[in-house]
Parts: sequence; C-alpha cells; structure tokens
Amino acid sequence: MKKRVAILGSTGSIGQNALCVIEALGPEYEVAALTAHSRYDLLAEQAERYQPAVIALTHPDFKPGYEAFSGGFSGSVLYGPDSLADIAVREDVDIVLCGVVGAAGLPAVLAAAGAGKRLAIANKEPLVIAGELLTRRAAENGAEILPIDSEHSAVFQALQAGRPQEVRRIVLTASGGPFLRSGRQEMEEATVEQALAHPTWRMGPKITVDSATMMNKALEVIEAQWLFGLPVDQIDVLIHPESIVHSMVEFVDGSVIAQLGTPDMKTPIQYALTYPERREGVAEGLKLEEMGRLTFEPPDLEQFRALALGYEAARQGGSAPVVLNAANEEAVAAFLEGKIRFGRIRELIEQTLETHTVREHLSLEALLETDGWARNRVRRLLELMETV
Ligand code: NDP
Ligand code: MG
Repeated sequence: MKKRVAILGSTGSIGQNALCVIEALGPEYEVAALTAHSRYDLLAEQAERYQPAVIALTHPDFKPGYEAFSGGFSGSVLYGPDSLADIAVREDVDIVLCGVVGAAGLPAVLAAAGAGKRLAIANKEPLVIAGELLTRRAAENGAEILPIDSEHSAVFQALQAGRPQEVRRIVLTASGGPFLRSGRQEMEEATVEQALAHPTWRMGPKITVDSATMMNKALEVIEAQWLFGLPVDQIDVLIHPESIVHSMVEFVDGSVIAQLGTPDMKTPIQYALTYPERREGVAEGLKLEEMGRLTFEPPDLEQFRALALGYEAARQGGSAPVVLNAANEEAVAAFLEGKIRFGRIRELIEQTLETHTVREHLSLEALLETDGWARNRVRRLLELMETV
C-alpha cells in the first residue's frame, strides 16, 4: 500500500531532506502535499516535480490566484496559516511530516494527532509548548508521534532494547555549537555570521542560532520529557563535538545503548517514515575508522545559561516552557535581524521568565495567550533597550 506523505515546510532544510528521502524510497512513498511560507518559487518547482494533490502558501501576503502556480502544476492551492491544519487532516494523507519552524506548526500537529495520523515531527517547538496536550490527543486518537530530531530518533531507537520501567536515564548529546571553545565575552558579542557557522549540522537559521546558545538542547530536554514520558531529572545532556553518537539510553542494569551515524538528517527522517522497518539509506554510511576519536564532556551551564534556563523551565512545567520558547523565538528573530547582540538573546529570555507567574494544566487557548504575552513582553523590552 502506498504511503502518502504531507510535508509541512517543504522549502526548509528538513523539508528538502524529506523530499530527497521520499524520492530514494521509491514508489511506495508518495508526496501528497507540500507547503511553504515565503519561498513560493521553490514551492512551485517542488510542486511541478512531485505533483502532490495539494500545496499551500502560508504567508498572509500570498492571496488566492497567485500566479506562480499557473504552470505545470494541476493540484489545488491553499493560502494562509490555517491551510497547514487543513492538510494535516486530509483523507489522502497518511503521514504528516512537520518541518515548519517555531510555534506556527502547533495547530497542524494537534490536528494530525486528532486525526490519528502518523506524525513525523521535526518541529520541536509545539512539543515544548503543548507537549501534554499533543501527546494526550495522539494517544486518544491512535496517532503515532515519531521523532525526527536526531537525538530523539536515537533515543527512540535505543529504547527498543528494553522496557520503559527499565530506563535509568537518557543522555542527549550536543555538539556544543560554534562557541564551545570561545570565551564567554567573545560569545556575548558574536555576530550573526559567527552564530550561523555550525561546526557539524546544516540547518535553518533559527535552530542554528538555538544551537549556538544551546537553547536548542534546552528545548530538546523538554521535547524528550513529552515524547518519552520521563521526568526531567532522568534526562541528561553531554557535549559530544563530533555529532556521531546521536544520543543514548542507560538502563537499570548499567547497560548504555547508543545510536550512531553521520550527522545527516536524512537518516532520522527516513526512520520516522519507514518505522518499524528499515530500508537502504540515502545518507552516507559511518566510517568510524576515519573518525579517529569520539569525545564527551559535561556542558558548562555558566557559559550556556540557556540550557540552565531550559532545565529550570522544565522543572517548573506548566506555562514556563511556553514562555521560554516564545521569548526565545522573538529574541532569535531580533538577533537575526541585527537588532541585538548575541548575548541579549539569553538576557531577554531570562527577563521574560522572571516576570512570569507559572500556571499549570493549561487549555490550548491559555497556552496561546501565554505565548502571546511572552512575545509582547520581549517586544516591549526590545523597545526599551539600546540596540546592538
Ligand atoms: P528552515 O528555516 O530551514 O525551514 C522552515 C520551514 O518552515 C520552511 O519551509 C519555511 O517556509 C516554513 N515556515 C517558516 N515560517 C513559517 C510559518 N510562520 N508558518 C508556516 N511555515 C513556516 O527550518 P529547519 O528545516 O531547519 O527546521 C524546521 C524544524 O525542524 C524546526 O522546528 C527545527 O527546530 C526542527 N529541526 C531541524 C533540524 C535540521 O536539521 N534542520 C534538526 C532537528 C530539528 P519558507 O522557507 O518558504 O519561508
Ligand atoms: Mg536535535
């Protein structure tokens, strides 16, 4: 039987890798839907090549009738942010692969979970904001959530070596990003170009900046809490600059099971599509003999304060991770626009968290309200701050 895949965010780094994987998997996998936010020309190219039943442009500037699709594409075209959720529940979609960046993916992943789809999720922010709601909705509707984030894919694979009650802890590895060996002051003043120069992974700009602050690992700790139903005190982080050991699970008998591979997102994307089967992979095989050595060290929580903030927010739970994520999204956007220096990202998040009173077990409306509050708070702080 054909597996029909909707790729939300097909113009991004995850989206383009997903298309490569689907092409390599052959005719059993079919592209059912594609979406872009701003890169309409690339979406038009993808639509002509893969001929999905439907495509969508989510940026509000694009209106019905946008002419880029008049050429060799005969499917339907949707417009606006709601089209992601409309695609996620379609009958002709079996797998929803979410490669959208940020909180924007939340309505679509909730819709996919509600419709009982397989949700192959790279987009970690919705899990951070609404992990409780999303995992509950998936369980109630028989939806599977399969992680694409490489660390979580590694944990998911390693967990198959034992039973849930036999897990002592999981260890998420982190490359440490471009500032692992920088002094604290140098890191505070880093430019956009320096922050975007990730040593091992090629990714979109937001997650690349998150990797430089290590907020990415903070978000991943919270992501892991929900995906694997583990308390935060059983989730550790270890710096591993080579990015070969993608993460590990320690069982109660002391055995540690790790998943290794080259740093290539095609591997976890493929596994989320083919699970429980494994297929011939497109990613280059691992040659450990050429690697020399693999190294590990504990993270410096003073230098990478964002990681410490993530652990605090995870322990507080409730609305704290929502504020952490929203403040981070706004601060990173301001940094990428050249409005603030690198060190300000962490300061803005910290200042926003300080003024927030944590609330528990929130409805979707309350979560979104908190998200909006945190974004406004950062914008106000930005107005007050002297720039760059
Ligand atoms: P990119 O910036 O490369 O791509 C983002 C995609 O989302 C693009 O297709 C973009 O459209 C679309 N998009 C942007 N804003 C919106 C919006 N407001 N509404 C709808 N669609 C939008 O990001 P990545 O591919 O790097 O990351 C995607 C997600 O996957 C993130 O959550 C990230 O944390 C996670 N992830 C990524 C990894 C990677 O290797 N890249 C690894 C692990 C996780 P357009 O380009 O047309 O504007
Ligand atoms: Mg990751």
